[in-house]
Amino acid sequence: MVYLNGDFLEKDKAFVSVMDRGFLFGDSVYEVLPVYEGNIFCFKPHLHRLSESLEAIKIPNPHTNEKWRMTLQQLINYHPQHTNQSIYLQVTRGCDTDRKHTYGKLKPTVYMQSSPFEAVRKEDFLSGLSAITRDDIRWSQCNTKVTSLLANVMYAQEAKQNNVEDVILCRNNIVTECSSANLFIVKNGCVYTHPKGPHILPGITREVVLECADYYNINTEEVTISKEDLLDADEVWISSSTREVLPITKIDDVLINQGKVGGIWPLVFDRYQVEKSLNS
Ligand code: PLP
Repeated sequence: MVYLNGDFLEKDKAFVSVMDRGFLFGDSVYEVLPVYEGNIFCFKPHLHRLSESLEAIKIPNPHTNEKWRMTLQQLINYHPQHTNQSIYLQVTRGCDTDRKHTYGKLKPTVYMQSSPFEAVRKEDFLSGLSAITRDDIRWSQCNTKVTSLLANVMYAQEAKQNNVEDVILCRNNIVTECSSANLFIVKNGCVYTHPKGPHILPGITREVVLECADYYNINTEEVTISKEDLLDADEVWISSSTREVLPITKIDDVLINQGKVGGIWPLVFDRYQVEKSLNS
């Protein structure tokens, strides 16, 4: 079952007009919320980011947080067979009578779907993952979670073709984030990640990962990271709602920490599991 504009429908019965600006212009924003055992993890931060994305592109928020929570819970309840779900939520500016760049007052289109997902298992990542680096060609409003994701789509496809987990993006020799994840490095016991701002998505998982490091009194710094710092790091991690926090041990042809997962990632990973259970 999916949710579309007030109705729960079978996926193959849900249709959006060709006049929808989400279709014509990618004029829409989205969220992805992880659900563990029926409970949305970090509901409030996700809803806060959604309202900020909507505000950034001047789409009125069609629901109160209470209404969002209720509708999301209904959607989750339609899939009791899936212990963990990944909810995709999209709000477009709505349908117009003709295709034109400018817009008037429109009724936003709201779409939500649930997909099953397997929570990551630590034992699957003890050897670490690989990534490649590419120039970050995206626009300068990456902090807004818009559905115009062509650059990200192309990076993801390149990652797939190169058989690596993700693409690490570099803007003027500064590593920003990945095509669909935030990035961390560890050097001499300190965790570094790019500061919030126009060049990265303010990941919800990123915040939880920083809190996990804080829990162990590990220093964290939100500063820019050069490509040289990245390749010389003791540990590299990526984070996202569905991948949680994963270690990268090979970037392009360079081994990180001689290709071995470092000592801090397992601690942060374990604490993340606790945070999940506390939040539920
Ligand atoms: N950065 C980008 C470009 C993303 O697309 C995502 C998630 O899809 C993230 C970071 C991680 O965000 P979150 O932790 O909120 O899932």
